[in-house]
Amino acid sequence: MPADVFTDEALPRLEAAAQHAKAKPDTIERLRHAEKFVEVSIPVTMDDGSLKVFTGYRCRYSTARGPAKGGIRYHPQVNPGEVRALAFWMTFKCATVGIPFGGGKGGVIVDPRQLSKQELEALSRAYVRALAELMGPEIDVPAPDVYTNATIMGWMSSEYDTIRRGLHPGFITGKPVAKGGSLGRDDATARGGFACLSQLQHKRNWNPKDITIAIQGFGNAGQHFARLADEAGYKVVAVSDSRGGIYDPDGLDVRAAIEAKETTGKLPKQGKPIDNEQLLALDVDVLVPAALENAVTKDNVDAVKARVLIELANGPLTKDADEVLAKSETLVVPDILANAGGVTVSYFEWTQNRSGDSWKLQTVYDRLNEVMAQSFNDVYDLAQAKGLPMRTACYVHALNRLADAME
Ligand code: NAD
Repeated sequence: MPADVFTDEALPRLEAAAQHAKAKPDTIERLRHAEKFVEVSIPVTMDDGSLKVFTGYRCRYSTARGPAKGGIRYHPQVNPGEVRALAFWMTFKCATVGIPFGGGKGGVIVDPRQLSKQELEALSRAYVRALAELMGPEIDVPAPDVYTNATIMGWMSSEYDTIRRGLHPGFITGKPVAKGGSLGRDDATARGGFACLSQLQHKRNWNPKDITIAIQGFGNAGQHFARLADEAGYKVVAVSDSRGGIYDPDGLDVRAAIEAKETTGKLPKQGKPIDNEQLLALDVDVLVPAALENAVTKDNVDAVKARVLIELANGPLTKDADEVLAKSETLVVPDILANAGGVTVSYFEWTQNRSGDSWKLQTVYDRLNEVMAQSFNDVYDLAQAKGLPMRTACYVHALNRLADAME
């Protein structure tokens, strides 16, 4: 992990886009800084009666285009630079797909796997108590991220309602459907990434059965992407989790892999075992990083042979690695576009909560596909027209929208 992922990895994207966008220098200067960044201590009484104080963060990066929007991450390596970078990326992600949100992010330094269910609930409710005055449906709307889920969003929603003495389902998204969540949120991130793959299929005249895919990270985003690709006839040849991966050049049994992961928490024995570095170096058509940041760095980028990268994870390429790929034939569909399906359906959830409506699953899928196809083509066309890598084009597109709002 670089010393500060915000200054090392996030800000350079802004500087690169600024050269091609219509934004004024004052707008760029404002976008170099978060509107608000807060650190809180979160005391939790553990099951054995002892007290543990956790550190939590919330960053409201920009509200220029609407309420800040962004998940809450529970991870031992959460740090201020990472939270700020993720909030910056959310700002540009929401602008890329044109939904009326700004960007935010939160996190707690914790390994949630070490906590009991009661301790996890106590921590989640305490996080909301510590930050409730800064968050709400009209100013900053949290959501799940790595190691947080619908149950945790449900606890947080309930805590917010208790504090505010009313029902405010639009406070947080990614809730259980029974608590005001939207149908289709589960696989929305993967479905958005898959919509990008489908647009590329049209542009490149691909026959899915000839296209091989490797996926690093087999959690929410990775598993659903594998399933959607498999159902559409693509050949998913490798998947991995934090323990390592499995590879079969003839295609994995994706359903069995998902079932094994769900029932045992582990990947099944299929094909041959590989480690995460070997997965990244596979000679495949499409590589999908769907784990954490900085999976591909200057040290392993030369080994990447995939023709297309679809970044389901946030920030999976370091800046150095990105520069190498930008000069190569490899097409990188950047994170702020490829994984924007999640926040798009979060926006649908917030919209339904505020209107009292409840959409059918097919309505969610159709509207999501419409947003993703339009956004992918806007960015792809801009990249072609200006001769830019897709990532820079994406930031230019988003920056133009931010400039419209700020100027
Ligand atoms: P998750 O916790 O469900 O899954 C993460 C997966 O990555 C797990 O399978 C884990 O074992 C694996 N992993 C962790 N470290 C790894 C390593 N070093 N090598 C290989 N695999 C490793 O998380 P998720 O929700 O699927 O999120 C994955 C990525 O997608 C994150 O970068 C997240 O920010 C991004 N993302 C997720 C969503 C969403 O809606 N879930 C939305 C936008 C972006």
